[in-house]
Amino acid sequence: MLRSVEEAQSSTREALFDPVIRLGVTGLSKAGKTVFITSLVANLLNRGRMPQLQAAADGRIEVAFLQPQPDDTIPRFDFERHLAALSGPDPHWPDSTRAISQLRLSLKVRRGSWISGLSGPRTVHLDIVDYPGEWLLDLPLMGMSYADWSQGVLDGARQPARATLAAPWLSVLTDAAPDAPLDEGEAQAQARAFTGYLAAVRGAGLSGFAPGRFLMPGDLEGSPALTFAPLPAGKYRSGTLGREFERRFEAYKRLVVKPFFRDHFSRIDRQVVLVDALGAIHAGPQAVEDLRQSMADILQAFRPGPNTWLSSILGRRVERVLFAATKADHLHHSQHDRLAAIMSALVADARTRADFRGARTEALAIAALRATVEQRVQHQGEALDLVRGRLLDTGKEAALHAGDLPRDPGQLLAPARKGAEKWLDDSYSVMQFAPPRLDLSPGDGPPHIRLDRAAEFLIGDRLR
Ligand code: GDP
Repeated sequence: MLRSVEEAQSSTREALFDPVIRLGVTGLSKAGKTVFITSLVANLLNRGRMPQLQAAADGRIEVAFLQPQPDDTIPRFDFERHLAALSGPDPHWPDSTRAISQLRLSLKVRRGSWISGLSGPRTVHLDIVDYPGEWLLDLPLMGMSYADWSQGVLDGARQPARATLAAPWLSVLTDAAPDAPLDEGEAQAQARAFTGYLAAVRGAGLSGFAPGRFLMPGDLEGSPALTFAPLPAGKYRSGTLGREFERRFEAYKRLVVKPFFRDHFSRIDRQVVLVDALGAIHAGPQAVEDLRQSMADILQAFRPGPNTWLSSILGRRVERVLFAATKADHLHHSQHDRLAAIMSALVADARTRADFRGARTEALAIAALRATVEQRVQHQGEALDLVRGRLLDTGKEAALHAGDLPRDPGQLLAPARKGAEKWLDDSYSVMQFAPPRLDLSPGDGPPHIRLDRAAEFLIGDRLR
């Protein structure tokens, strides 16, 4: 009996001193978070296709295993169900991220070089925290009053790129009576119409759709903290719709935004931001411009200036941030460098725009799950590089060319070029590929593009 207590104590002590890496995985809806985590974990568990992760290439990862996560109140990332969706006989894409979740993967690693002779393997815990990027973009709300926020949203809605999308909401808004006593039906109608506008903005590939929980409510759907909308500026009397919306906006900041940053965000030490850059490029110049702005907002969240609300609650500082353009398997590898260069230029630009302090950043073009193979054909006497995959709707194979990205990212990003070019043609819209049929031999992981390089940047130094 005594022995087992001692054993338990010693294993707790061990666990206390084992290094923990908290890796945040974020990105807007459909950026590829669920697929990224599933493929990363599957590849690490099998020590599969990870040659660019140095510890794996050196054969120093002795065992990898899943363990109960340390946070009892956060839902567990449903790895097994997501992997089953991808690896069954009829593979399909798993359900996307809708709220925060977590998974602990533990790696037993031998140290590199001469140190390995002096000490045995140690266990490194990788706590992966998956959360919607929409929640991150709520940060600027913390510094705004309801009136500031309303004004900003209304100004944005009148811009040419958004005016058509905003029309249905704005017509509901003209019926609002902010000075009249609160009517819950009216409040809900306003919030519904406004949420419809935010969804349309996101659907058009544009950003700027805070409050993030309106589109990604998690377990707060239908709650009063999410039942408000912008109203024209005014001094609203107590008991009116205007005053109640003002109160709910403040409640949203206090009860939703603040706890997320305090309890979850502040504990992350490595972060990957997944970006559907190809989707934005396809959607057009305004979407790229929006992407550029949201990257700056995101970077600012990771390293806020001193004396800001966020800096006062940040427990630890994020040491590394990877911006990864996902779904690179839509392009032939001859174009991957161009996609990576666009991503790098966006990051460099975001660093200049944000008042950014420290943290290593990197940009990559990746595919967490490679759904295509490459093919070269002759077209009108010229070689054309295609990608071939099974289409999601028909199940038939198709070989397609999405178009050519510019060699120089400046051609796409320079503001003077805004509105000028269309870089990805209509074939890109057809490119809804199904996941590949995975016929994996033991010890093999799902196919990917540069997932191992992403892992090396994010955690490689902690496995040395
Ligand atoms: P989330 O909302 O960020 O969790 O996004 P998901 O991981 O669910 O990905 C959204 C969709 O993007 C998937 O259903 C796939 O259609 C597509 N997708 C994600 N990753 C890849 C990838 O590596 N290759 C390809 N071809 N499609 C991907």
